[in-house]
Amino acid sequence: MRLCIFDDWKVGVVVDELVHDVTAAVPGAGPSWPPVHVNHLIASWPAGRAAIEAEIERTTPRPLSEVRLGPPVPHPWHLIGIPANYRKHIAEMGAMGSGGRSMRELGFFLKTPGSLVGAGEPVLLPKGSHRRFDHECELGAVIGRTCRNVTIDEALTHVFGYTVLLDLTLRMTDDLREERSMRKSFDTFTPLGPWLVTADEAPDPTDIDLELRVNGELRQHANTRDMIVPLAEQISYISSVMTLYPGDVIATGTPEGVGAIEVGDVLQASLSGIGSLTMTVSETSEVAPVVL
Ligand code: MN
Repeated sequence: MRLCIFDDWKVGVVVDELVHDVTAAVPGAGPSWPPVHVNHLIASWPAGRAAIEAEIERTTPRPLSEVRLGPPVPHPWHLIGIPANYRKHIAEMGAMGSGGRSMRELGFFLKTPGSLVGAGEPVLLPKGSHRRFDHECELGAVIGRTCRNVTIDEALTHVFGYTVLLDLTLRMTDDLREERSMRKSFDTFTPLGPWLVTADEAPDPTDIDLELRVNGELRQHANTRDMIVPLAEQISYISSVMTLYPGDVIATGTPEGVGAIEVGDVLQASLSGIGSLTMTVSETSEVAPVVL
């Protein structure tokens, strides 16, 4: 099943290029903040799925192009990032002076869930900034059950589904080396979507092609089999530190080819068997009082 969020936190099921509004079958859904109904929906699976499937039968779908897509998990308790998880990316970052260590030495990091945005909104770079902002195309994994101290062998049974994720980043310079969580937590710096594919309909997470194009030009192209630390081991590692909850999102790391984005760019991130997320890059309406 392909789940989406659209307009004011409505819940949809995407079939081909159509979306069924199944909001009426999701308890707690509505326009109020925080939008945590998806977390509860995931926690209620498979009963939640049965209610949604019944609702699909009662609804007339609309063209997907007529709705404004939000992030398919709008309010995860945790948004976790995996750094340096592809060898060729480590090599390119090493060449940029950022070390050469992998996730095994660096552990994981947190982004703010408030940085999530869906395909229906633009990415916003800070107006007036001369800093470099980079794209990082990643497989996004969504946790399905509350879990702690998960073994590698059982880890993937705790995954609810998969989505396309962009981990946008303010790059460091020789002089300016702001902390990672800050550099990745600007509003709109975690595009997610266009939908969430449940694990039963998703491909093997260790064999997914990732591709990122900027204005049609191929910038990143790799396969998740090239991860240094596969998703199952990531979940085991993370859950040794913190309890994971339904709806938690893991950005599983980016392959080589990261590069700058500019106002006016169109980013298209595609994952085989998952979907294609298209984002436009704009800028904030005002220059911030702090220059970045
Ligand atoms: Mn990343």
